[in-house]
Amino acid sequence: MADSLNVDEALARILEQINLLPAETVAIEDSLGRVLAEDIISSLDLPPFDNSSMDGFAILSEDSKGASKEFPVRLRVASDVLAGSISTTVIKAGQAARIMTGAVIPEGVDAIIPVEDTDGDFRLQETPSHVSLYSSVPVGAYIRKRGENISKGQLVIKAGTVIRSAEIAIMASLGNAKIAVRKQPKVVIVGSGDELLELHEAPAHGKIYDSNAYALAAMVEEDGGVALRFPAAKDHPDALRESYQAALAEKPDVIISSAGVSVGAADYVRGILNELGEIGFWRINLRPGKPLAYGHLAGIPFFGLPGNPVSAMVTYTVIVRPSLLKMGGRSSSSRTIEAVAGERMVSDGRRTYARVRLEAKDGQWVAYETGSQSSGAHLSMLLADGLLIIPEEQKIVDKGEKLPVLLLR
Ligand code: AMP
Ligand code: MG
Repeated sequence: MADSLNVDEALARILEQINLLPAETVAIEDSLGRVLAEDIISSLDLPPFDNSSMDGFAILSEDSKGASKEFPVRLRVASDVLAGSISTTVIKAGQAARIMTGAVIPEGVDAIIPVEDTDGDFRLQETPSHVSLYSSVPVGAYIRKRGENISKGQLVIKAGTVIRSAEIAIMASLGNAKIAVRKQPKVVIVGSGDELLELHEAPAHGKIYDSNAYALAAMVEEDGGVALRFPAAKDHPDALRESYQAALAEKPDVIISSAGVSVGAADYVRGILNELGEIGFWRINLRPGKPLAYGHLAGIPFFGLPGNPVSAMVTYTVIVRPSLLKMGGRSSSSRTIEAVAGERMVSDGRRTYARVRLEAKDGQWVAYETGSQSSGAHLSMLLADGLLIIPEEQKIVDKGEKLPVLLLR
């Protein structure tokens, strides 16, 4: 395989040329799944003020000493504090304030006694004149202290975090309406083949449906990109040229093509790429998917993937995915585990990414091939949990051998 490049070497060379995209500002409600591009530093204490964690009565802990159901302590209710309101009444010994969950702790008190431990009835609108306490509560009981959760100036969420609902909750509670997130890579998907049908067309002899455009667009979106699918071009240099020019007009961050990269009579990708841009390298030593091009079209990274559906998806996973993740500021770590081969497998000396399903057995993962490993067998991907990596030069994997698996889910 002197003419083909090692996978790691190829990937390293490509990643060198891939840059992190700039940031953009979005409303937090539009940030789910995006990558945070700034540190979130709290501009507030959370909670912002001491408040009650219960519906109950704000009291001096001292007053509740010795209280029980048999010997209740009776206090005069001096005020009523609702959430969102501020009471100016200072509570003195022998007094209590009726207080709702989340309301500001009035001055003078140091504990809350929950309504369940009193004769209070919160279903009543009017403030009771007195309350009887049925238990004692220590100093600080049911008081959420200002800043006990998050303090002003604290680094709460690091740049680079993928935003989930919990991050949105915190950002909202800090009053952040807009945040900086990494731009999503915009990817145009192109393809070619006279045999390809659009999904709305009727089946016809000699024709197959274009599945790569959909598969690749979905993979791009799984990796945080925005995909734009182009209809497959005819196998003619003019059609391909037109398709690439239309792709460029979209000003994408990446162009991904499938098919037309072999040495068949109708394989024009290489020629047009040479004409409109430049080819970085052509063949990568991996299986499935050896014919794989990388280059630039008007400065835009171009990945020319093979046409066989499984090859397209595997080469996407191995080569394109890390590139898009880098652009989008996403980590690609922790996607590989170790597994033992559950059966004998064969390779041809290229680095092979065997589609395997994984079973947990005796504390380890055991990998089994997902049926036919033909590069056209869609089902081998459908059933796969991961890609078992058989190193270069190795032609046989014995049952029980330990190898890395690149996880697909
Ligand atoms: P090619 O690289 O053009 O020689 O194509 C290799 C194989 O992949 C052929 O069997 C094609 O029919 C198939 N193929 C190419 N493009 C697609 C596509 N977009 N969807 C499904 N199969 C494709
Ligand atoms: Mg073709």
